[in-house]
Amino acid sequence: MNKILRILILLAIAWRGSAQQKTENIVIVTLDGMRWQEVFGGVDFQLMSDKRFTRDSEQVAKKYWDADLSGRRMKLFPFFWSTVFRQGQLYGDRNQASEVNNANPYKFSYPGYNEIFTGYPDTAVNSNDKILNKNTNVLEFINHQKGFQGKIAAFTTWDVFPYILNKWRSGIYVNADVDTLRFDNPQLKLINDMQLLSAKPLGLRPDILTYIAGREYLKAYKPRVLYIAFDETDDFAHEGLYDQYLESAHAEDAMIADLWSTIQSMPEYKNKTTLIVTCDHGRGDKIKEQWRDHGQKVEDAGHIWIAVMGPDTKATGIVKTQTPIYQKQIGPTIAALLGFNFIPDHETASPIASIIH
Ligand SMILES: [Zn+2]
Repeated sequence: MNKILRILILLAIAWRGSAQQKTENIVIVTLDGMRWQEVFGGVDFQLMSDKRFTRDSEQVAKKYWDADLSGRRMKLFPFFWSTVFRQGQLYGDRNQASEVNNANPYKFSYPGYNEIFTGYPDTAVNSNDKILNKNTNVLEFINHQKGFQGKIAAFTTWDVFPYILNKWRSGIYVNADVDTLRFDNPQLKLINDMQLLSAKPLGLRPDILTYIAGREYLKAYKPRVLYIAFDETDDFAHEGLYDQYLESAHAEDAMIADLWSTIQSMPEYKNKTTLIVTCDHGRGDKIKEQWRDHGQKVEDAGHIWIAVMGPDTKATGIVKTQTPIYQKQIGPTIAALLGFNFIPDHETASPIASIIH
């Protein structure tokens, strides 16, 4: 081929690539062990009516019940169903032929978060213990790209995340459980006081403090990638407290709405930030109290969901999946949205094509 023609073609491809990619920042939020059944179906009538799981059924019904499906899910997840549904995409409604699964066989937290961020359902990752993750994750990969160094932060309720994301190797700023924010912003000092002085009914920093710390960090330091990991839904479900599980899910939806409006109010983020919300694993169905649990032996616990919204994602609402989507595709999708090809030194999956316009 003529040399000049070849250069012209390469330039055209490069121009097209940069013109297509509008995402400059990514915000990821996870709701630990949040079931797809409530995300897409709202409150469950049977669990809401069962006194073993819901102490004040009448009160919960008043707040969250609606005989109509769209009204019901809107009451529990108003941001998902008023904004993401209209402006973005939702995956995982198995009643609408939309399927997302864990690829890892374990269906609990560490293997799930490892799968999200490394794109690799490593069978050697099979414990929730504080073990340093050997696998390279996508946040660490992005942290090594030009313009992203030192611009990656994670705020997590669960104190195993520093190990999952291997903060000592990856160089990502990971603020987990009660963790002092190292700067003299009076607002951030207030958050420190609150997290140190608050009661911790679940043994960890309440999700609201994880969120506020992450939001204020975003405003002060403007990271290019921010990850916020909530925890309460999983703990309350294990306890069999269906009412509290709902309350945490509903509050987290409101925090995500607040985060989105914060993003849209800042010129550094407005119209150039993609939001991805997902979970580490699902839970069982209603039979034999299995909704409380998850893990290898719980059927359906590998059924998960993804919500996504941003400048490179078409507003198509619930996306029917021709073939099931897997959790291991999320990490490569995060990289692809920023125009990167995540090729670590382990096998990985392909990005979810329908998310990227
Ligand atoms: Zn759990």
